[in-house]
Amino acid sequence: MKKVLLIIMDGLGDRPNSSLNGKTALQAAYKPNLDYLALNGATGLMSPVSLGIRSGSDTSHLSLLGYDPEKYYTGRGPFEAMGLGIDLLPGDIAFRANFGSVINSKVVDRRAGRIKDTSELSKSLATNIDGVEFIIKSGVEHRAALVLRGKNLSDKISDTDPHNIGTDPLFTKPLEKEAEFTASVLNKFIERSRKILNEHSVNIKRIENGELPANEIMIRGAGKIPEIPSFREKYGMDAACISGTPLIRGIAKLAGFNIISVDGMTGRTDTNYGNVINSAISSLKNYDFVLVNIKGTDIAGHDKNPELKKSIIERVDQAMDPLKKILTNTLIAITGDHSTPCSYGDHTGDPVPILFSTEGILSDYVNSFDELSVSSGFYKIKSSDIMPIILSYSERAEKYGA
Ligand code: ZN
Ligand code: ZN
Repeated sequence: MKKVLLIIMDGLGDRPNSSLNGKTALQAAYKPNLDYLALNGATGLMSPVSLGIRSGSDTSHLSLLGYDPEKYYTGRGPFEAMGLGIDLLPGDIAFRANFGSVINSKVVDRRAGRIKDTSELSKSLATNIDGVEFIIKSGVEHRAALVLRGKNLSDKISDTDPHNIGTDPLFTKPLEKEAEFTASVLNKFIERSRKILNEHSVNIKRIENGELPANEIMIRGAGKIPEIPSFREKYGMDAACISGTPLIRGIAKLAGFNIISVDGMTGRTDTNYGNVINSAISSLKNYDFVLVNIKGTDIAGHDKNPELKKSIIERVDQAMDPLKKILTNTLIAITGDHSTPCSYGDHTGDPVPILFSTEGILSDYVNSFDELSVSSGFYKIKSSDIMPIILSYSERAEKYGA
């Protein structure tokens, strides 16, 4: 049996960029190590979730770990809340939340002037109303997650984020009869929050400084925490996850992964990729399966910055040099979770390149790891095919039949 290292370069797939002479970021990048692994590996194209689906990072990561998102995806709220370090229980209802600004009873900004730190504000809102615990945790800038814990809660309630400015601040509404209790406690929470936030010293100071107050908590995307079988139960492997992205860490936690933190892994494009790859390699001593998510490629795609995407691929490639030394007892799989073409600035349904490499593997004729080259490789698969292929190459698959 071999150890498994699965590296997801987030949003890896790209389309032609005029500033790169019509090449994709992968085609334009100098990436000798990725090419080495493609040359000594089996490659192909992988469609995240299914052909042409513009998947989010959450649904695609669920799918590529073998958890059907049709069954287990319950909205982004639960996944973001877990990623922020809220330990969720079955039955909890989670939301994504924004701190926004309300002046003269109108929403004037949904991001509270891009406030830097809302942790003091979040702390002041934690409470218990009618037996329901309200847990709130700040994320980056104006973002936060809200979790409701208690009995008889429903996620069938409307957003209070107006998704627009110039409107009245909203209360939530039940979308079915069973959700009336949830909506009523939540509306009590919202009323209470408005009072606390308006009187909070952080906001009084902001107004004195001519900044917008963060005085309205706007929630959206209610979802119930899904129960999913652990990765260990499913595959018999002890697994760890290395990621700078709360959402990915949340999914991994849900599947029972241990989360490994790495110095210099920021979730941004300034991540120290050497530290990331080295810590993945050393984690393989203690774990059977290590999942690495590298976010920078997706960020560059959203920023419509092909030069940045190319340079991140080059920096990651450079850090991958030591991977060549672990192929004897490790299966390495590298792919993206979806395409984020720089020309489009968001996720698309294009397939992404994938490679599997380990000593003794039957390789195809592909010697370059990019969207076009791998199209002549062995595989045309969906993300849900990855785990069975990994189990087979790592000598862990059970025989089907006699
Ligand atoms: Zn992604
Ligand atoms: Zn993205």
